[in-house]
Amino acid sequence: MILSYTQISKYLRCPRSYRYHYLDGWREKDTRAAMIFGRCFEKALAALFRREDPAAALFEEWGAFREASLECKKGESWDRLVHQGVHLLERFAQENRVCIRAPQKNLQIKVVRALPGGHEFVAYLDAIGELDGQPCVIDWKTTTSRYPEDPEGLLSLDPQLLSYSWISGIPAVALVVFVRKHRPEIQYLKAVISEERRQEFGRLVEATAAQIGAGEFPAHSGIRFPQNGCMSCAHLGLCLNDQQLIDADLIRCRGASSLDWLDELVD
Ligand code: SF4
Repeated sequence: MILSYTQISKYLRCPRSYRYHYLDGWREKDTRAAMIFGRCFEKALAALFRREDPAAALFEEWGAFREASLECKKGESWDRLVHQGVHLLERFAQENRVCIRAPQKNLQIKVVRALPGGHEFVAYLDAIGELDGQPCVIDWKTTTSRYPEDPEGLLSLDPQLLSYSWISGIPAVALVVFVRKHRPEIQYLKAVISEERRQEFGRLVEATAAQIGAGEFPAHSGIRFPQNGCMSCAHLGLCLNDQQLIDADLIRCRGASSLDWLDELVD
């Protein structure tokens, strides 16, 4: 079994949803404009670090989706997204706080760690570089609203950053958040993950791998107003046996489970 952060977090959120996705092959229809734009934007960032033209790279990547029928939120459009993206790239270059040496080697880095029982954990780190001169693991995010910064230390609890610190053995982590709003903004959020937290995360991964291996997939429905996780779960139609919801949100992919670790690339 090859596990990733995405798989572990999906299992911890609701084991039944994990089973639907990874074992039964029910996949969310991937047509959200913001998510696809985020992937294109990261390719433009990579071009910037390779000293190529990032705006041209963004137009090329995002241009492939110009005629696609994508799900846009209110106020979103192909043009608006590209406009915001170019602004953010310009601002990021001007602020010049992030340095990635040898970008061919230090962007989208695949790291694999062996787990007990012959399993493996795989992660794709967005970047290993320096933020304000401090070496760290960096994760890029594109979003429409600012990430919370208070209380202090909040970021050190972020499970994705914990997983990256654990697998890389690098204590310093950072999120570079590209906020797509009227006045584009970039947040540079830093945290240091302690050895104790990294070890704790490692034990969580091993315990989760053992539960998955034992075929334990109970439903964690989370029906509690107002934080009802089922409302944002793509598999709600399956749990409610609602064919209309299933047709609207999911597609069935058979025989793709050996490629599931590729999900990690979209985070
Ligand atoms: S709808 Fe709720 S119970 Fe069903 S898989 Fe999703 S989170 Fe789990």
